[in-house]
This record gives sequence, structure tokens and C-alpha cells, in this order.
Amino acid sequence: MNAADASVSVGDIVKMKKTHPCGSDTWTVIRTGADVKIKCGGCGRIVMMDRFVFIKRRKAIITSGSQNDITQSSKE
Ligand SMILES: [Zn+2]
Repeated sequence: MNAADASVSVGDIVKMKKTHPCGSDTWTVIRTGADVKIKCGGCGRIVMMDRFVFIKRRKAIITSGSQNDITQSSKE
């Protein structure tokens, strides 16, 4: 574990441990903060979850959106 493991950026394409019922396991991060909002890559469904829960359920980052988020990143 390192600090990068906990980073979440708007625009990230991530793979979750659990496959969505629609068959897709890739999600796009559309909002970050104390809660993280992700959109299913298959059916477009939006799910909000606690940031901590999101980090735990995230399996891999396919594409990092951090480079597109520099202007509006809110550092804690
Ligand atoms: Zn879906």
C-alpha cells in the first residue's frame, strides 16, 4: 500500500471487483470528495459510495483522469 492507492480523480476509468449486472466491470469516476460517484461503462448507471468503500472495491485503474483534472482538483 502506498499513497497513490488512495487517489481518486474525476475521469478515472476503473475496474471494480464486482461486475455490474449489465456485464460491465468498468466505471468512470464523475465526482470525488468524501463520496465518490461512478458511472457504469456498460449501462450508464450512476452509483455513489463512500470514498473508503470505493477504494476497497476498486480492482484497478485502467485510465487515470488526473491529468485532465489539474485545473479543478481540490486537494485536501
Ligand atoms: Zn451497468
